[in-house]
Amino acid sequence: MTRSIVPFVCALLGASPGVAQDLVLDENVPAAGGDFFEVAFTVPANTAELEVVRIYDEQDAVLDFGLYDPDGFRGWGGGNKEPLVVGTQAASRSYLPGPMPAGEWTLLVGKARTGGQDVPLRVEVTFRSAATLAVDDRRGPYEAAVLDQSPRWYLGDFHVHSRESGDAVASLDDIGDFAASRGLDFVVITDHNTDSHLALLTATQAGHPNLLFIPGMELTTYQGHLGVYGVRDYVDHRLPLADQVTAYRDQGALVFINHPVLDLGDACIGCAFEHESFGEVSGVEVQTGAATLFTESALAFWDTIRPLDDPGAGVLGAVGGSDDHRAGQDLGLAQSPIGSPTTRVFASSLSEAAILEGVAAGLTVVQIEGPEGPTLDHTSYVEDFEYSSHTIYTTGAAGTTLLAVVGGAYESVADLTEDDQVVEVDFAYADHDVDEDGVMFVRFELWRGNTPAAVSGHLRIHPCVDSTCRPSDNGNLLACSCDQSKAPVPAVALAALAGAAVALRRRRCRLG
Ligand SMILES: [Zn+2]
Ligand SMILES: [Zn+2]
Repeated sequence: MTRSIVPFVCALLGASPGVAQDLVLDENVPAAGGDFFEVAFTVPANTAELEVVRIYDEQDAVLDFGLYDPDGFRGWGGGNKEPLVVGTQAASRSYLPGPMPAGEWTLLVGKARTGGQDVPLRVEVTFRSAATLAVDDRRGPYEAAVLDQSPRWYLGDFHVHSRESGDAVASLDDIGDFAASRGLDFVVITDHNTDSHLALLTATQAGHPNLLFIPGMELTTYQGHLGVYGVRDYVDHRLPLADQVTAYRDQGALVFINHPVLDLGDACIGCAFEHESFGEVSGVEVQTGAATLFTESALAFWDTIRPLDDPGAGVLGAVGGSDDHRAGQDLGLAQSPIGSPTTRVFASSLSEAAILEGVAAGLTVVQIEGPEGPTLDHTSYVEDFEYSSHTIYTTGAAGTTLLAVVGGAYESVADLTEDDQVVEVDFAYADHDVDEDGVMFVRFELWRGNTPAAVSGHLRIHPCVDSTCRPSDNGNLLACSCDQSKAPVPAVALAALAGAAVALRRRRCRLG
């Protein structure tokens, strides 16, 4: 690239050639040396607002941008093109208004794609003593809402971008309207590497009494993406991934691996998950968008990172997300509307805390065909420490096959000929992988031909001494759990307890 193309690119980016800038920095972003490059500049005292324009040859490279003041994070616009503006009371999308301390600020440059060549970059900064951006009076602290006190299944989407993502255009109001029109109960707003949308959620929520907004984030790296549900504060995405995951868990958030096998090359930079060290994630987004090309591989990834034949390793949850960037409007062929797929979550209320609790307990069903698609519900029992017994209630499932995944192995259960069927099946502990406590992992899936149509979370089933169950909205006993304070029955005790097993026969045992 030569400097001769600068005026052309400048026009593309919406800058104003000829307008004097306070600072012009000509940098060279090196292809080598990690994912990020930092451009430092000094902000003078009494600055009320600053504007940063970035100019580089977009035919040769893709760069992302974020901003830090001397005290911390001020936003991440990724690859958005417009000038970056930050002030005391307002900021351009993806960025955070706030105090404007004098001193050294940092423009963080993310090397999404360099083509192996250094990338010449011009940074133009303008400092203003008076703000030009209008104040957005919707901004305020995030306050969690409770929209429904009923314990039941709720329908939602765990992967939705608003215009606070640099590559999205949807307003939060349009997202709320569209999601409600699809019959959803909640959406998780997962903007890329920023928490600028949190300040808008409470005011937006007030206008959508039946659709819960949950603050999330898509932690976007160049080696993979992760969904953070229940985010409160941005964590520096330059840190090692495992440290970020720990920091988000410490906030009470759940971290899921997004679209783990979505390998589309430069068409989706960093979308396939290649991190080998990622810490204690809570689950996997097993379906992203409505296309099912990668679903089977995503399910295999889910089973691989926490093997189901190793019950001691615990299980990971499953969700689905549309990855909608346009609130369902003017979508291209490769894009899916909010709700495709839908994730059902059994929760004690329609609130952020209860939805996350249900997800963490594995009480989800990913409806790959959307809110009206086939789905299932089930109850589980322990039989004499020899069997786990399951009753599966299917809905809208005519023409699909019910499969079980037991200890990591698929088993065909039934071909379904009617929409609403009840199927009973037992699994003998002796025939499956269980640990010394008799723990068995079971999930159920509905397949339409060679394509998954619905995927349940895992049941972690083991003999237990006491249990509690709560009813589902259709009257079936849905979610049962052992008293966590009671230790699992050790294997050596099973024989001694055999005589007492009759008393425990068909005791409803834990799910989750
Ligand atoms: Zn992604
Ligand atoms: Zn996304």
